[in-house]
Amino acid sequence: MHICVVGAGVVGLTTAYFLQSEGHRVSIVDREPAPGLGASGANGAQLSYAFVAPLADGSIPARLPALLLSRHAPLRVHDLAHLRWALQFLKHANRRAARDTTEALLRLAELSREFIEPLIEGERIECNFTRGGKLVVYPDLKSLDAARAQLTYQAALGTRGQVVLSATQCIEREPAIAGYLGGIAGGVWTPAEASADSGAFCARLAELLAQRGAEVHLGRTVSRIDHADGLVRALVTAAGPLRADAYVLAAGAAAAELGRTAGIDLPILALKGYSITVQPEKGATLPRASITDMRRRIVFAPLGDRVRVAGFVEIGNDDRSIPPRRIGALLDATREVLGYSVIDGELRQWTGLRPATPSGRPIIGRTPLPNLYLNVGHGALGWTLAAGSARLVCDVIAGRAPTIPMAPFQLSPQEVIHAQRLSYSAPPTAR
Ligand SMILES: Cc1cc2nc3c(=O)[nH]c(=O)nc-3n(C[C@H](O)[C@H](O)[C@H](O)COP(=O)(O)OP(=O)(O)OC[C@H]3O[C@@H](n4cnc5c(N)ncnc54)[C@H](O)[C@@H]3O)c2cc1C
Repeated sequence: MHICVVGAGVVGLTTAYFLQSEGHRVSIVDREPAPGLGASGANGAQLSYAFVAPLADGSIPARLPALLLSRHAPLRVHDLAHLRWALQFLKHANRRAARDTTEALLRLAELSREFIEPLIEGERIECNFTRGGKLVVYPDLKSLDAARAQLTYQAALGTRGQVVLSATQCIEREPAIAGYLGGIAGGVWTPAEASADSGAFCARLAELLAQRGAEVHLGRTVSRIDHADGLVRALVTAAGPLRADAYVLAAGAAAAELGRTAGIDLPILALKGYSITVQPEKGATLPRASITDMRRRIVFAPLGDRVRVAGFVEIGNDDRSIPPRRIGALLDATREVLGYSVIDGELRQWTGLRPATPSGRPIIGRTPLPNLYLNVGHGALGWTLAAGSARLVCDVIAGRAPTIPMAPFQLSPQEVIHAQRLSYSAPPTAR
């Protein structure tokens, strides 16, 4: 079958890779001049299989005034779409929903681990892949206790190997944060986590796909999904239509816009974030693990002789500007947590839009149009979840029973625009 994937980010490219490896002819189309220039470009680099709890959790209702009304409120309600997203987000902001989502995402993350690491190593994709573990450090005993409770919960679900460390044990484990001892009450160490540069991964994987016969159409914007009589006929672009037997929408934060042209109302909103990639001064200790500082919610990941530093969540802000105060805050965090006094060389600044659903779960699989499939809405975890999500799309297209239950990731009938008069009921779950 000839399958065209919209989006050359980490989600679209892994989907194309696994579809190609199952014998399909694949085409990929992206509006950018190179692969991986969307959210996958310079993200936090964490393959963080055990830290998947959604943003919407039971703590949100109490924090609502600050989220909406404070001077630096991250949640901006500009229009009706934002308001609808925010209301759905609140519907999921309770303990029960957060636990269901965590459970589903842990399964998807495990599936991803099973496929992404052999893909990177087996295909020799140079992207500074490191199985260095992950250390999450907490500023006070209250937050450390909450983390301990989450560990106990996740251990019951099968997450193995996570341990709580004292502040001194954190420093022994990760000497790069020795100067930050006074800033932490303790941490959680997860040995089986990894990190890698998803932007480099996208560039290499696109080359590999092209070498193996994929058509990669770059610099080509899909303005509309042309459909008639219940089937997609073509992807409309200024340079002419792109036709295939089936299509996979993997357009990141822009998926909602394109989805609407096919009668699908995807609840995806951009969560804007920032990163810098720094080269520490000679003699400075580079981190061995990836590190999350929970005081600021900023992550640090080793990428060869550089360190990626990423953070911030601005809800519903989709402009691509990079305010100097955000870069200043990332630099301050780097100096305080890693102790780098001077940061040599080029400082690579970046911003990206996380494609977020209100529940925190991606939307994967079928649509009312039988030859259109979705792989969208991976929020803050797209690099971690890409390979598992791609495998699920392959399962659905092949008509196989999915490897893990699909129900948590399916498009709900409410997400179909009724005006399009498409009859749709969610397909039965295979397992
Ligand atoms: C600051 C930050 C830190 C993050 N850290 C991590 C992390 O540590 N670990 C992790 O797992 N995840 C992380 N993420 C999330 C992760 O980066 C995203 O979930 C992931 O990149 C989404 O991949 P994608 O392929 O869906 O989207 P994208 O990478 O955005 O790709 C979508 C592609 O679709 C193309 N496109 C869109 N519309 C059209 C159109 N109409 N026509 C043609 N092409 C189109 C775009 O150009 C783009 O290239 C982070 C994100 C940010 C912003």
